[in-house]
Amino acid sequence: MNLLPLPAFADNYIWMLHDAVDAVVVDPGDAAPVFEALGRTGLRLQAILVTHHHADHVGGVAALREATGAVVYGPARETIPEPAVRLAQGDAVTALGLRFEVFDVPGHTSGHIAYYCADLDAADGTEGGMARLGGTPALFCGDTLFSGGCGRLFEGTPAQMQASLDTLAALPGDTRVCCAHEYTLSNLRFACAVEPGNQALLHHLSDCESLRARGLPTLPSRMATERNINPFLRTRESAVAQAAQVVDARVNPADAVQVLAALRQWKNDFR
Ligand code: ZN
Ligand code: FE
Repeated sequence: MNLLPLPAFADNYIWMLHDAVDAVVVDPGDAAPVFEALGRTGLRLQAILVTHHHADHVGGVAALREATGAVVYGPARETIPEPAVRLAQGDAVTALGLRFEVFDVPGHTSGHIAYYCADLDAADGTEGGMARLGGTPALFCGDTLFSGGCGRLFEGTPAQMQASLDTLAALPGDTRVCCAHEYTLSNLRFACAVEPGNQALLHHLSDCESLRARGLPTLPSRMATERNINPFLRTRESAVAQAAQVVDARVNPADAVQVLAALRQWKNDFR
């Protein structure tokens, strides 16, 4: 199975999975990069997975479905282009012979979902070419979890986002974290302000800076890395809780939700 990020707009990624015959895309905010990739490779688009309703994630859905007949899957509780198969926590999608579990991850939007595939090479008869991923899991988390950060709370509460991030952080450490935006460097600069003494974070920042200097994506990240460097997955760490209390003295450092709320506000104002 092959996994690749198709760049779209200024900093979106449309994730494409394919087995050299059929393809799946996640959050095609723009149809053009997907048509370009399908045309270049001769792949057939089998399914479109949507995480949430924002235009930069659904803008290309209708054109792609009309041109390819791909089945569209999306969140049960949001307005997205119809027709679509609606999904919520506990549901699963089968595409490319792979099973994608659905998690409800509200916070960025109130009905946001994520898709988790426990084994990218589980499908029968698929011999991927480049970027063969030998059985590792993958998570398509839209705008809920970013490398080094999390989505803005447009519709949900800090408590919802904390619970959503707890769900995702519990996935296996080798999970490929396929986020929908290349926000990594600005997130990591903020993370360094929160945890200046985190050596894993400093190391990861320098790795990501060199990737970006070469024009390469910093994604997918790995869940084990995120647990070590992402302040929004570290709201129970004393260094993170204390930093949140410094910017907002009302924060109870023993309350992860209050810490997350203070971090998110701090990040919104951070330059
Ligand atoms: Zn969004
Ligand atoms: Fe987005």
